[in-house]
Amino acid sequence: MDENNIVVMKFGGTSVGTVEKINNVADRAIKANKEGKNVVITVSAMGDTTDDLIELSAKISEKPSRREMDMLLSTGEQVSSSLVAMAIIEKGSKAVSLTGYQVGILTDDTFSEAKILDVGKERILSEFSNGNIVIVAGFQGITEKGDITTLGRGGSDTTAVALAAALDAKYCEIFSDVDGVFTADPNVIPDARKINKLSYDEMLELASSGAKVLHLRAVEYAKNHGVIIHARSSFNNNEGTWIMDTEGFNDKMEQAVVSGVSYDTNQVKISVFGIPDEPGVAARLFSEFAAAHINVDMIVQNVSEKGKAAISLTIKNEDLDIAKKVIEKMKTTFSIESVQIDTDIAKVSIVGAGMKSHPGVASKMFSCLGENNINIEMISTSPIIISCVLRKDRVKEAVKLLHECFTLEKE
Ligand code: ASP
Ligand code: MG
Repeated sequence: MDENNIVVMKFGGTSVGTVEKINNVADRAIKANKEGKNVVITVSAMGDTTDDLIELSAKISEKPSRREMDMLLSTGEQVSSSLVAMAIIEKGSKAVSLTGYQVGILTDDTFSEAKILDVGKERILSEFSNGNIVIVAGFQGITEKGDITTLGRGGSDTTAVALAAALDAKYCEIFSDVDGVFTADPNVIPDARKINKLSYDEMLELASSGAKVLHLRAVEYAKNHGVIIHARSSFNNNEGTWIMDTEGFNDKMEQAVVSGVSYDTNQVKISVFGIPDEPGVAARLFSEFAAAHINVDMIVQNVSEKGKAAISLTIKNEDLDIAKKVIEKMKTTFSIESVQIDTDIAKVSIVGAGMKSHPGVASKMFSCLGENNINIEMISTSPIIISCVLRKDRVKEAVKLLHECFTLEKE
């Protein structure tokens, strides 16, 4: 057995959504296997199965135990993995499906958001030596105690990357219903271009600023373990987007100044007015948010007047309810004058590794928005990403303008 000739292929929910599509996955696996590769397939649950299971649980319990939720949701991937195995066997090849437990995907016990601690490879290698294609149920693991966990929504990507790392696979192919990572959301920008190569850091910034192609944790895992990802479509044979270390790039010319534009409408702005402008106040304010597990994204503090300052920050929509409680508590412990919550905002970002060595990218972005009468309310920058907060009803227009300004469209 050629242990180095291992590929991991991951198929998302839409790619296993019907019997026909399951057969398509089986064909791809068999083809790769016949080419002499040892094939591991990871699958998500079929179609909307996970959402349907969540809906079902809500009819029984408003706030179900997280352990029981994981027990429930992990069944979706068990269904799809066994069906893929059956399809492969039906077509005359050898296959076996395995749960996270059977593989030995060990996680911590943070139910519904578990982190992978270790991935066993013995069982998979022994299945290879029996001539099997191995199908692993995505999104799930097992605690040391033996409880089933899940890795967070979209977590099958992480399963795939973790398997590729453990097995030292050549690369990890992530199949979905899109051709790869695009210069912008193709639903908003019809002439967005597929990106051929991205560095891990660019992909991380794109994923965390709103691009939905890959699970953020999967990219982090890939970066930490040097797993090359090929994100591509399960419906055609087109080359997709390769995500790897920049050392894998042939030359620096491949590093675009701006690789893509992303946007996020899932944001809320909170402005706190009249906070005492004294050392330590910001620290106390933000430690209250941190203690409530709220991730604060952008922060702006204005110039203080008469010893009082104002701070604006953005958080994710889903954290708003907890944030409101934190603010109520802060009103009593700090001498804050007022708080404003604004849900009509969105964030637009440009990402590119080449920005580091090209001055003037930020000013070009601001002029592009300004000339088109789009007001920028907050700005944040780091070496390879620049983000602006603006009115939500202008965000798609902003994506379109920036995509044009930085000439990202198809040739
Ligand atoms: N089925 C899970 C979800 O829908 C995991 C995944 O799709 O990767 O979130
Ligand atoms: Mg899914």
